[in-house]
Amino acid sequence: MRLSLIFVGNFREKKFAEEVVTSSGIGLKGTFVERVENFRDCYSASRNQYDAACMLGILENKYDKPFLALFTEDIYIEGMNFVFGVAIPSVGCVVSDFRLRSRKKETYFSRLRKEILHELGHVVGLGHCKHPWVMAFSNSLEEVDLKSDSFCSKCRKKFSERIKVEW
Ligand SMILES: [Zn+2]
Ligand SMILES: [Zn+2]
Repeated sequence: MRLSLIFVGNFREKKFAEEVVTSSGIGLKGTFVERVENFRDCYSASRNQYDAACMLGILENKYDKPFLALFTEDIYIEGMNFVFGVAIPSVGCVVSDFRLRSRKKETYFSRLRKEILHELGHVVGLGHCKHPWVMAFSNSLEEVDLKSDSFCSKCRKKFSERIKVEW
């Protein structure tokens, strides 16, 4: 599976993100794209956040699927105060590092790795799994920090089968 990795705006940790998606456990091949998208039409002034569903719609029309877009502004979907990321199965996902930041670099990287893997899991069709695996749903940073950055054996198997067969 080739993944379009889209670095949006001033997302900085490009090398790290590349490593996460191409690391042995995941084994995706990336087609790396760098774009400055302003997503002006997706911005909600009243919330001071970007509508992730709107962003996914724009990305879906512009880039090869599946894609992973990394963003630095706060994102939400209707009905939730915020999200760390959102995915559409077989299409792509957006992950924002806005709420993942930490004074400790390793904490930030650990969070970012988990959220990237989690959303990519949804992209290949995985649902939520139980704690402490990476596909566990996390609604807060505490939950992100408490879970592992690994897929359980079932999810891992599904993941590797799907990226072999599809796309
Ligand atoms: Zn999820
Ligand atoms: Zn699992």
